[in-house]
Amino acid sequence: MKALQYRAVGAAPEVVTVADPEPGPGQVLLKVTAAGVCHSDIAVMSWPADELPFALPLTLGHEGVGTVAALGDGVTDFEAGDSVAVYGPWGCGSCFTCAQGKENYCLRAAELGIRPPGLGAPGAIAEYMIVDSPRHLVPLGDLDPVQAVPLTDAGLTPYHAIKRSLPKLVPGSTTVVIGTGGLGHVAIQLLRAMTATRVVALDVTEEKLQLARAVGAHEAVLSDAAAASAVRDLTNGRGAEVVLDFVGAQPTVTSAGAMAAVEGDITIVGLGGGALPVGFGALPYEVSVCSPYWGSRSELIEVLDLARAGAVEVHVEKYALDESPRAYERLHEGAIQGRAVILP
Ligand code: NAD
Ligand code: ZN
Ligand code: ZN
Repeated sequence: MKALQYRAVGAAPEVVTVADPEPGPGQVLLKVTAAGVCHSDIAVMSWPADELPFALPLTLGHEGVGTVAALGDGVTDFEAGDSVAVYGPWGCGSCFTCAQGKENYCLRAAELGIRPPGLGAPGAIAEYMIVDSPRHLVPLGDLDPVQAVPLTDAGLTPYHAIKRSLPKLVPGSTTVVIGTGGLGHVAIQLLRAMTATRVVALDVTEEKLQLARAVGAHEAVLSDAAAASAVRDLTNGRGAEVVLDFVGAQPTVTSAGAMAAVEGDITIVGLGGGALPVGFGALPYEVSVCSPYWGSRSELIEVLDLARAGAVEVHVEKYALDESPRAYERLHEGAIQGRAVILP
């Protein structure tokens, strides 16, 4: 089968032919119908060899949906042809956090060598993929696979980030979304669907700000050194109760610290490597800073239910598998509006 692989440190990913996978006991083989392209892959491909936590070559793609093609021995939960989404942050399934469905925070994944598809295990940008357990599949029903696939990360990750702050997102509150790309443009829609907060979107180009407005941001502001004072102006000096940073670089986390309200939440989702000082006087009183990773199994079900209710419309750019390297180039250039989706 064809697959998009990251094959050598620093090299661009390429479409290659690999052996057709076969499901082992307890596994499920999917015929991939759609796979999403996430900026985290670009971060991973920038890591030096000694920081890479897995071996190459690696089939990319940690957002995947497909139809069940074959069941390994002992799997009875699904039938051939079922349309399913893959829950990506695989864990052991039985430790304390996995027992709560929070496999994204599995306590034993590192020790057991369990890695998500596309981030260590063979990923979704291929004609077929192996899912290690039916526990990691959510039925899609009649949800459109192209619309649904970004929800497995670009939907689930912001959903989880927003959920921790829900009690603060009352009428009159303000939430700033920094970076209105794949994750950010879904975050704006989730905020509008789940809360009464006013959404202020920040990005670096007018084109991205237009998308932010189109998907429901009340205000859209250029992300520069003046952004924090612009947010203070928009909030009569109060600042934002919640800042969701989907960039996470030093300039954006510094802005986040400067625009947060007293008792606000700053949630750094982006892998940009920035850090915020915490300590008396460093941030407004009682600001809480957190760096979440992906989301839980039950939250993926909730996000898909929201989509079923019509609350989220992902803006997608579609690519054939052979064109998938181009999707990564365009993402790297900042040229994708919304999410790139590969149709193998
Ligand atoms: P993306 O490229 O689709 O979106 C990033 C957006 O940020 C773009 O619109 C870009 O124009 C904008 N941007 C860049 N610099 C900016 C700045 N200084 N100020 C404001 N906006 C700026 O990326 P994505 O796939 O949505 O991923 C967003 C980030 O989240 C990445 O760092 C990714 O690695 C990370 N991520 C984290 C998790 C997690 O679990 N924590 C999960 C998925 C993605
Ligand atoms: Zn991702
Ligand atoms: Zn576990």
